[in-house]
Amino acid sequence: MITTKATQVGGVYDVVVVGGGPAGMAAALGAKESGAQRVLIIDREKEAGGILWQCIHAGFGLHYFKEELTGPEYAQRFLARVLEHDVDVVSDTYVLDIDRNKQVKLMSGTSGVRIIAARTAVLAMGARERTRGAIRIPGTRPAGVMTAGLAQKFVNLLGYLPGRRVVLLGSGDIGLIMARRLTLEGVEVVGVFEIMPHANGLTRNVVQCLHDFDIPLHLSTTVVHIHGRDRVEKVTVAPVDSSLRPVMDKRWDVPCDTLLLSIGLIPENELSRQLNVRLDPVTGGPVVSSTMETSVDGVFACGNVVHIHDLVDFVTQ
Ligand SMILES: Cc1cc2nc3c(=O)[nH]c(=O)nc-3n(C[C@H](O)[C@H](O)[C@H](O)COP(=O)(O)OP(=O)(O)OC[C@H]3O[C@@H](n4cnc5c(N)ncnc54)[C@H](O)[C@@H]3O)c2cc1C
Repeated sequence: MITTKATQVGGVYDVVVVGGGPAGMAAALGAKESGAQRVLIIDREKEAGGILWQCIHAGFGLHYFKEELTGPEYAQRFLARVLEHDVDVVSDTYVLDIDRNKQVKLMSGTSGVRIIAARTAVLAMGARERTRGAIRIPGTRPAGVMTAGLAQKFVNLLGYLPGRRVVLLGSGDIGLIMARRLTLEGVEVVGVFEIMPHANGLTRNVVQCLHDFDIPLHLSTTVVHIHGRDRVEKVTVAPVDSSLRPVMDKRWDVPCDTLLLSIGLIPENELSRQLNVRLDPVTGGPVVSSTMETSVDGVFACGNVVHIHDLVDFVTQ
């Protein structure tokens, strides 16, 4: 695996990119190819590459590389190109703040807090998953309720199983992929419950991750209660009517020890808010021009920070 360069940052950068996922790497490469001299990517993780490292399934790069790659392969290829182009990369470093003069405040365990200057900044911080709080599922607060992306990190990066008998709420792509992944690891995936009358993820994921593994998909059905004291013991599910209201007298209980949530992503917009860029109430990300510039001069945004993309190839574009 290519590891990011340990770079001593300092001086003025032409372009500072916050976030080293596929969006940030593509932006940095684009800036270099267009003549920018000093370009820096900053990422809080140990390696640049973003969410791709935990996506060990295939299905990436069909449009951009005309090949089917895994997430880590896609990240690796891009990171190699970024480093070949002499882009500076600092990882393990958190961006705390950017002001309107493009002074970027960084923090890391080894170097403490530093401020660097940029002529142009790019927001490429990706997205975060919606949690139980976002949809207010009633019930107790036991262990075993988590987002599908967190479960993916546990299984694929850290080597832990999140549970033995799993219910999934929401049929987004991450949830569908995790239904298959957990089945392959010997976990019983009892079913996927989706409030809408159709699946949310790509058709190929419904077929390859659920149908091929006989995992039931319950459409127009949602979780209405979580039970359990220390650990999840069961969930109550119910069909919904045409206004998406649960029909409680048709509810039933599903014993399980884990509830995974795949109920959508929202742009990571803490820094965007601090900078006071104009946000779009529909996407939750910054409003951008046709050149992806935000409402603050010289601050650009790209990838899932702007709006949620299904495919990494479109993020790269
Ligand atoms: C679980 C999952 C499965 C997916 N499966 C597929 C698939 O099969 N095929 C496909 O084409 N696409 C898939 N996607 C979509 C694709 O991977 C994403 O669209 C893409 O990774 C988004 O790129 P990004 O650069 O915008 O964000 P990310 O990849 O999330 O990168 C953002 C980076 O910014 C860093 N960061 C955030 N805030 C800060 C800060 N303050 N300071 C420093 N660093 C910061 C983060 O650490 C992260 O590395 C999947 C996505 C997910 C979440």
